[in-house]
Amino acid sequence: MSHFEIIDPSFGRFVLGNATVKQLATGFDWVEGPVWFGDANCLLFSDIPNNRIMRWTPDVGISTFRAPSNYANGHTRDREGRLISCEHGTRRVTRTEWDGQITVIADSYDGKPLNSPNDVVAKSDGSIWFSDPHYGIMTNYEGFQSEQELPCVVYRVDPATGAMDVMIDDMNCPNGLAFSPDERLLYVADTGRMFSDDAQHIRVWDCAEDGALSGGEVFHQIDPGAADGFRVDSDGNLWSSAADGVHCIAPDGHLMGKVLVPELVSNVCFGGRAKHELYITATTSLYRVTLVRNGVQYP
Ligand code: MG
Repeated sequence: MSHFEIIDPSFGRFVLGNATVKQLATGFDWVEGPVWFGDANCLLFSDIPNNRIMRWTPDVGISTFRAPSNYANGHTRDREGRLISCEHGTRRVTRTEWDGQITVIADSYDGKPLNSPNDVVAKSDGSIWFSDPHYGIMTNYEGFQSEQELPCVVYRVDPATGAMDVMIDDMNCPNGLAFSPDERLLYVADTGRMFSDDAQHIRVWDCAEDGALSGGEVFHQIDPGAADGFRVDSDGNLWSSAADGVHCIAPDGHLMGKVLVPELVSNVCFGGRAKHELYITATTSLYRVTLVRNGVQYP
């Protein structure tokens, strides 16, 4: 059985016919936030309801990286290679320093606590961009049920000064986000309020050199499922979560093909020696597939 569905014939060049979607580990409750550490030859990802960050390495497999994790969700690395994490439980974004100390990058806006930072990207100018939907404070499953005091927006924070700006304020629940390889475009998924008729789609903004955004039109609608998280490859194709696997969306917004995964996918990241392996967090399991693609993921 093929692990790929080719919709646009050019997607065939991206996949290896005999590559399998391999389950690397399972038994989790809801995994998200994969981030690759080439220097440590490992992948970190969150098992959110179990309040822990897991580590996968090719030689030993699974171990616990951090527990409790403050119900961490999305992760990335800044341009100095440090781990940046979104934490539901403490309603903050943190940086793990090289010595293991934790630095808080953002935990409030306008004197009010953030909702539950969900996903995060680092721009080459040092700024950290993150989404702050309310999913992590709605129930006690992925954090602590709490009162929502701020709208669900996308923030940009300058870790050097702490200056923080609302960059996108017209989404229901911003979630996954990624810059194009040249950082001239910002893609953000809106996954909407649960149990509502909210639109679920990916939108795209033009991003000026100083970070100012314009545009914001709908780029793509994932079907089935939603774009919880995605990453961009070196040619600017988006590899996005979906209910039936990972969807590859071309820069012009059309669906090129799918990596079929037997569980609902939450997020992906590129890893491996040449960033040619796609790591996939999907409900209870971690999967990996080798592609004829290379991800853009810094450092
Ligand atoms: Mg997410």
